[in-house]
Amino acid sequence: MVFSTWSDHFANCILARRHPGVRLAAVNVRVLIDGSSELVFDYAVPAGLDVRPGCRVRVPLRRKSATGTVLAIAAAEQMDFALRELESLIDPEPLITPVLLRTGEWIADYYGCGIETVIRSLLPESVRSEENSAKTRRIAVLDVPPDPAVLEKLVRRAPRQHAILSLIANAPGMRLPVADLGEGSAAALKGMEKAGLLRLDAEDVRRDPEADGVEEVLESQALALNPDQQRALDAILASMQSPAPKPILLLGVTGSGKTEVYLQAARHVLDLGKTVLVLVPEISLTPQTVRRFKARFAVQREQVAVLHSNLSQGERFDEWHRIRKGVARIVIGARSAVFAPLPDLGLMLVDEEHENTYKQENVPRYHGRDVAVLRAAFEGCAIVLGSATPSLESWHNTQTGKYTLLRLDQRVDAQSMPLVRTVDMRLEAAKHKGAVAILSDKLRTALEQRLEKGEQSILFLNRRGFARSLQCPQCGHVCQCPHCSVALTYHRTDERLICHVCGHQAIVPRKCPECKDPAIILQGYGTQKVEELLARVLPQAKIARIDADAMRRKHMLRDTLNAFKAHKIDILIGTQMIAKGLHFPNVTLVGILNADLSLHVPDFRAGERTFQLITQVAGRAGRGDVEGEVIVQTFTPHSPSIQYARKHDYDGFAEQEMEFRRLFCFPPYAHCAVLTSRSNHERRAEFTLQTLHLRLLEDLPPGIMLGEVLPSPLVRAHGQHRFQIILRCHRARPLTRHVQAVLARTSLPEDVTVVFDMDALSFS
Ligand code: ADP
Ligand code: ZN
Repeated sequence: MVFSTWSDHFANCILARRHPGVRLAAVNVRVLIDGSSELVFDYAVPAGLDVRPGCRVRVPLRRKSATGTVLAIAAAEQMDFALRELESLIDPEPLITPVLLRTGEWIADYYGCGIETVIRSLLPESVRSEENSAKTRRIAVLDVPPDPAVLEKLVRRAPRQHAILSLIANAPGMRLPVADLGEGSAAALKGMEKAGLLRLDAEDVRRDPEADGVEEVLESQALALNPDQQRALDAILASMQSPAPKPILLLGVTGSGKTEVYLQAARHVLDLGKTVLVLVPEISLTPQTVRRFKARFAVQREQVAVLHSNLSQGERFDEWHRIRKGVARIVIGARSAVFAPLPDLGLMLVDEEHENTYKQENVPRYHGRDVAVLRAAFEGCAIVLGSATPSLESWHNTQTGKYTLLRLDQRVDAQSMPLVRTVDMRLEAAKHKGAVAILSDKLRTALEQRLEKGEQSILFLNRRGFARSLQCPQCGHVCQCPHCSVALTYHRTDERLICHVCGHQAIVPRKCPECKDPAIILQGYGTQKVEELLARVLPQAKIARIDADAMRRKHMLRDTLNAFKAHKIDILIGTQMIAKGLHFPNVTLVGILNADLSLHVPDFRAGERTFQLITQVAGRAGRGDVEGEVIVQTFTPHSPSIQYARKHDYDGFAEQEMEFRRLFCFPPYAHCAVLTSRSNHERRAEFTLQTLHLRLLEDLPPGIMLGEVLPSPLVRAHGQHRFQIILRCHRARPLTRHVQAVLARTSLPEDVTVVFDMDALSFS
């Protein structure tokens, strides 16, 4: 296709709207054509047409006409061929608000990606595509009550018409869907319309995602806030008075009542006639938070929109337009909801702001929290980031004065923080003559005590499956994924070996594939094994497991959590799916089985993640009248992450971790990006990155720390070999721009993919 010859060039052209004063001789636009194939073409704009990104347009395509969305605009270039002109504008106004467009431009610039990829995220496909439209139904309407004299006449002459008229007259608003008038009324209605007795119209019907099968939520009332909560709420409301509110970090220990503060702040904003956007890490994993918002605003159910990945195209279309029109005034969603087109935003809330899921792992690789902060600044609205374990980035921003810090250091109702003990698993292994124990004696006794007292327990292990791997004791062979550099995990329920990176499945060999020894054994353990072990040692306990394998069925997570709440389950075993925001007052014991799992990964954030995970999981204990206890099993009990989490000491943890980050110049003291190459050909992946490394080195702007070309920790995934360069810089822009400039002038081999990830959270 001829367009691609200058398409790379296009991205570098100055966006026409950045220079509104300059009159451009001509303008070209890049258009994403509606339809499933994601075609992108460039067109010339006829003189006099005001086209902006986000506008819907009609364009010629081959011998037909098609519709699409304008992704980008550029000053026309000298070319040796003429572009076809677009035909017309469908809507005079772009679908994207100016603030969102500005946010999109910021993302493109900051993360180094094309504006077109950002626009695609900004406007969901269901909204862009011509195929979706509002669902309508025909209605019969009376604008004035029927004349009694007319009715009188109709009773005898046309009883059917009389009946119809009376029905409509008694319907709310004197409007009734035609479908409700029964079969065969169509002819009568037409006649009546002609006679001027009524009016036929069409109205939009909302495809309500909650219409069926969703539990009733009872309305909840605002609680009387404790002094700390009141102070936090007052500060949030005060910040809303400012024309340029400073972002607020709400650091509140688990169970300190952050959500109640969010709810009351949101209520104020709605009362002011403005709108609220709430971001949560993942809708499906935070059912309790979502439900609390629904419950508080139950009487205005129409005003709440929950954006989640299970919406149908039609539902998504309707919710988007409900939001755009200001009907839905409180929106709850994950990362991508940051682009929800709410008019007149008054407040943005980012719950569990430290969560990694806010970072998008494919293009555009934006961080939902950071984009939220940016959008709030552009909108001039207040924003609150909340967490019990804030990211060090946000913490740092409170230290430099960029953010305001608010704290809730106590749990509500004078509940104490749970008592956290560690169990040294090295000693435990020695007790059992070297065999790796899953349950320490201490944890097992504690579980038994809870069972006797009728209290509930949660066991956390961040590894699903039955066994970590299958290994031959004779030759040491480990069954590996043929496409990835990881061991296959044994899953007993499926009787399969499964790769947790690419999903590859293999049958379980009866003997070692290498040396044919039949003594091949399972190494390590996962949640399935824990479940089996517990069923054996505590046969009287009712046990359930929550992990990606057990939760494949729809509503399974919700049902299991409900059963746990109703105490139909004594012990809940789970992966990080249970680490977030769950509140069960009867849980008095939390066991963390292998706290070291997240500690020994090649990532400078390993300590931070471990601290967050232990603190969050521990925070599920003792949220009722009985004090909670947490038992942390670890092989490295003295590691700072574990010790500070044990003492609930966020400040202590932050202080020592920040010192380490400062010494080695890691975030938040510098921005850190990864440049990765991937290819089926190992040499080509490596060579490509080496070439890029050389070019990056030429005229390297001062301040950029350029790492060496190294194999990625996960050296192979999905059959592709991976190499990476880590880059750091105190300022983000020079880094992104330098890398983009080098990438733009380097032609990459076809079978090598290069990925640039700014502010990367994953280094695997
Ligand atoms: P966090 O979000 O900080 O973990 P939550 O908002 O979940 O804490 O609060 C924990 C529990 O305390 C919830 O059941 C909540 O309803 C209750 N709660 C919050 N604020 C108050 C208050 N002021 N008075 C009484 N109970 C409260
Ligand atoms: Zn694999």
